[in-house]
Amino acid sequence: MAMREPASLSYRPAAPRAVRILGVRVDDVTEDETVALVAGWLQAGGPHQIVTVNPEFVLEAGRNPAFAAVLEGADLATPDGVGLLLAARYLGTPLRGRVTGVELTHRLAALSAQRGYRLFLLGAAPGVAEAAAAALQAHYAGLRIAGTFAGSPAARHEPFLRQLIAAAQPDILLVAYGHPRQDLWIARNQPYLGIPLAVGVGGVFDYLAGRVPRAPRWMRRLGLEWLYRLVRQPARWPRIVDAVPRFIWAVVRRGPGS
Ligand code: UDP
Repeated sequence: MAMREPASLSYRPAAPRAVRILGVRVDDVTEDETVALVAGWLQAGGPHQIVTVNPEFVLEAGRNPAFAAVLEGADLATPDGVGLLLAARYLGTPLRGRVTGVELTHRLAALSAQRGYRLFLLGAAPGVAEAAAAALQAHYAGLRIAGTFAGSPAARHEPFLRQLIAAAQPDILLVAYGHPRQDLWIARNQPYLGIPLAVGVGGVFDYLAGRVPRAPRWMRRLGLEWLYRLVRQPARWPRIVDAVPRFIWAVVRRGPGS
């Protein structure tokens, strides 16, 4: 007769259904499902990588095969960005909702505070990762921070960063170097770090540290965060103006059923 696993180890959420947007895999997961998957990974040990995909990721993957390979190989590709949800619906393969970098970071911090996992925050401008960590600790009592460091995604800094992070032995590594660099950085360095989970989180530390204001809740609920960012961060205009029409055009050209 087969031995039964203890209840805490026997719960394995099913692998999420994946949809394809312009060839890029996006997993149809909710925040709760993501947390359940992560909890299983942390119990089982590493290494795992999460990417939070938005339309800019999809366009970048089309011109950057190395980045496309990292997105394909990630253990989980969450749908970030309302544009992805609209595209998925148009293509006839709707996604149930978004799992954004900010919300995911909050959920990972809550889980870590509960279970004693330790976070390492890598990236953003000097001082920002520290401030972001302090903000998380103020919010989640008992949260343990293994380390924070701005550093740089440049290849010549990798040996030092590997040593620094491996010595700190975090359970979860959050990397804020912007896409595609942060996700490529994780894929290159994960094998040397032995960390159960690494996530590319883009501008999340800037939000947590209060350097960049977040859209009000009602705007977020209506999927208008991008509009708020456009107004509050005019430096992003060239990026958005470049990405939005190209993304829409590419999706419409491929069409439903493609
Ligand atoms: N960043 C960094 N080093 C770099 C480039 C970017 O630390 O060489 C940080 C930057 O300070 C910001 C984040 O990476 O905190 C990028 O945020 P953004 O919202 O632009 O991310 P994306 O949307 O490109 O993933």
